[in-house]
Amino acid sequence: PKSGKIPRTLPINRGVPNPSTFISVHRHPEVQTNREKLPILAEEQIIMEAIHDHPVVVLAGETGSGKTTQVPQFLYEAGYTKSGKLIGVTEPRRVAAMSMSQRVGFEMNLPDLVSYQIRFEGNTSEQTRIKFMTDGVLLREMAKDFRLRKYSVIIIDEAHERSVFTDILIGNLSRIVPLRAKDTENGPLKLIVMSATLRVEDFTENSKLFKTVPPVIKVESRQFETTCHFQRTTPDDYVSAALKKACKIHRELPEGGILIFVTGQQEVNQLVRKLRDLYPSKNLEKDQLDDFNGLDEEDETIEKTLRKATLKRKKGQQSKVPTRSGPMAKGVLPRVDLNQYRAIPLDDTEADAMRDDQPEEEDVLEADPESLGVTTGGQPLWCLPLYSLLNSDKQARIFEPVPEGHRLCVVSTNIAETSLTIPGIKYVVDCGKVKTKFYDKLTGVTTYQVTWGSKAAANQRAGRAGRVAPGHCYRLFSSEVFKNDFPLHAQPEILKRPVDDLVLQMKAMGIMNVINFPFPTPPEMSQLKVAERRLLSLGALRFDKASKIHQITPLGKSMSAFPVAPCFAKMLALSEQQNLMPYTISLVSALTVQEVLLETPVGNHEDSFNQDEVRKIRKIWAGKGNHLLLGDPMILLKAIHAAEYEAGSRGNMLDFCNRYALRHKAMIEIRKLRRQLTNEVNLVLPHINLALDPKMSLPDDNESNLLRQIVLAGMVNQVGRRLEVPPNITDPKERAKLENAYQCGNLADPVFMHGRSIFFLKKKTVKPPEWIVYQEVFETDRMHIRGMTAIEPEWLPVFAKTLCNFLPPCQEPEPWYDIESGRVMCKINGTFGPQAWPLPTLTL
Ligand code: ADP
Ligand code: MG
Repeated sequence: PKSGKIPRTLPINRGVPNPSTFISVHRHPEVQTNREKLPILAEEQIIMEAIHDHPVVVLAGETGSGKTTQVPQFLYEAGYTKSGKLIGVTEPRRVAAMSMSQRVGFEMNLPDLVSYQIRFEGNTSEQTRIKFMTDGVLLREMAKDFRLRKYSVIIIDEAHERSVFTDILIGNLSRIVPLRAKDTENGPLKLIVMSATLRVEDFTENSKLFKTVPPVIKVESRQFETTCHFQRTTPDDYVSAALKKACKIHRELPEGGILIFVTGQQEVNQLVRKLRDLYPSKNLEKDQLDDFNGLDEEDETIEKTLRKATLKRKKGQQSKVPTRSGPMAKGVLPRVDLNQYRAIPLDDTEADAMRDDQPEEEDVLEADPESLGVTTGGQPLWCLPLYSLLNSDKQARIFEPVPEGHRLCVVSTNIAETSLTIPGIKYVVDCGKVKTKFYDKLTGVTTYQVTWGSKAAANQRAGRAGRVAPGHCYRLFSSEVFKNDFPLHAQPEILKRPVDDLVLQMKAMGIMNVINFPFPTPPEMSQLKVAERRLLSLGALRFDKASKIHQITPLGKSMSAFPVAPCFAKMLALSEQQNLMPYTISLVSALTVQEVLLETPVGNHEDSFNQDEVRKIRKIWAGKGNHLLLGDPMILLKAIHAAEYEAGSRGNMLDFCNRYALRHKAMIEIRKLRRQLTNEVNLVLPHINLALDPKMSLPDDNESNLLRQIVLAGMVNQVGRRLEVPPNITDPKERAKLENAYQCGNLADPVFMHGRSIFFLKKKTVKPPEWIVYQEVFETDRMHIRGMTAIEPEWLPVFAKTLCNFLPPCQEPEPWYDIESGRVMCKINGTFGPQAWPLPTLTL
């Protein structure tokens, strides 16, 4: 053991200067005995004195030392709730909030005093004295009562995880604490920042955050040596590798629990199922492993919540949105000679996409155990799953004694890394990977990707093996990979997130002065300013002359509810009233994914499609009239729904994609995004009760018009006007070239239509539109625009007000959102206001 400290069962005065404020708690003797083994008990005096003497204290201690379960009890006993105020504890994870509140209530023998509150549920009452909650819940409370008058202490737990919410909470609290110090009515507020023994300098050495550097208390804990073993090579399929390693440990190594780290619920269930098959236990009743068919963990939360919400709703209640199924693909499918194109052979990435699509068939672990080099039989395993959404009684089984003759084996996501401590673990098997949220900087859409974790996280995982005795950690990757590919620490989430989105979120929370906000790790200031400007032109913010601050508008508030980039959030917010939501969801999903339509040459398959063939296919997708005017996004819309139609009717999307030059992997991604967004929309706007209908009919003419307006509303920062070719240019070649040019935004030089844009391909028969919005400008040999949609200039005063200089005697256009009701107005007929409006001059 590194620390020779013997726990002092009864510190002298337990950090309370006046023991008369002390409240005694009558714990069960067994609980008391176990508590006394926790390293943090020996530090109670020091911790409580520090909290007494300082407004802010940082407490760092090895996972399992007792921070989360014991510190709230210390505070309660010391009388911090005597004034009727609460002890608040925030957790970045919902499960931690729930299970820890249960545990603390149990340990204190006062279950009614300890409650939890997470986004959709909670059990707080009059009697609550200690309240566990997610960081998001406390932020919302702050928006209502900035001084947090209900609380005498706030504990920010797991601060090392550096979730954006935790960071913003700490920033806010650094201001609330001094406010409360002077607040004679409500008394002081104590702040305790708790973290695992990872980097805490960002909190203590940031002069913007705390005026006086808070003391850092390190809790020494008995940690035994862990030997780390690396693989010689790094396997791709870490789930199979984990299975093999666990079997080998179980067969060959002395007793001691095994803890396996993988990245998601599905992998956990897959492994547990297989291990139970291989080493069956008679005691373990065949409990159900919930499976969610390839969904990410966060998706599952939403899915579960939705399911609950739907159950609550009356049965038989009709969806207000008419389902738009129908053989859309029939009349509109491109009529191309199907034999003309060769199928593109599957490459690795596409094979992967297939696996996503059909998890059952491709399930590696269903393979014969012998082919994996695994033997069955022998000592039974007590194999338990652990992930954040497992219900709490199943979760609690990791703390129960293991039945006679069994070896414990827990398969977990990174939840067992720092927030839960499992007793009796001697072997850790670590795949080294984590599932992380990625925010596409361009689109703001969140995706989940499996990547290498950090060195700090890997060492934290290894440490789980050394709690009772020296242990071993088997890393399913090579030491080279660890050395070269693992970052030292995980980056704080705030640096990975686009700031447009963050600024909007903060304003929605009531934090108006974003530029001066004391971030523990600040994003770039210039980025914050640019973000404010863009949000202003989107109509999410408005400049308040009195306060000289950019305030959030009702539109901005509704936008902030959608987890996508603000421009897309605006499109979704505007679609609410017109039953356009399913189309907008498809559009947003499609615009988010790169290269949906194959460009040539394609990888090694240059001969599969030539330029002409790609152009021809695109032209066929284009359509006529209003469909054509919706431009490149319409092609995406048609492609998605036609592919889904094929997938549904013939079950073969890949084949269809190959025939029509669509990227299959992109289609799979779009399908996932559509599901995710449909779920989110249902959470934000439960009354529209949207069903995900993969096959939809085409929008009619009126709907196409509305969709164009919606695209404009989201892309107000990307408006372009076709260049008039000056008469003094006479060279026909030069003239022809300039006919493809647009003047865009604040770019001085003309920007050219991309050769793949449908308006370019059709320009012989249809004149390219005068006014457009576009998705992006990119540079090759010259500047090009991609993703064009035609717009009507009379829409601009309505949707792109900030771009227009109104000429007198122009009246103010009809408001496009109603400030009183906070509802977004969008006219049904596709026309706005009196036709007689003078055309605005645009400041482009
Ligand atoms: P820390 O927050 O420092 O990581 P905790 O307070 O979470 O530590 O855990 C302290 C101890 O309490 C650990 O040994 C852990 O195994 C135990 N523990 C936590 N929750 C439970 C529970 N529900 N049942 C039994 N033991 C638990
Ligand atoms: Mg903890």
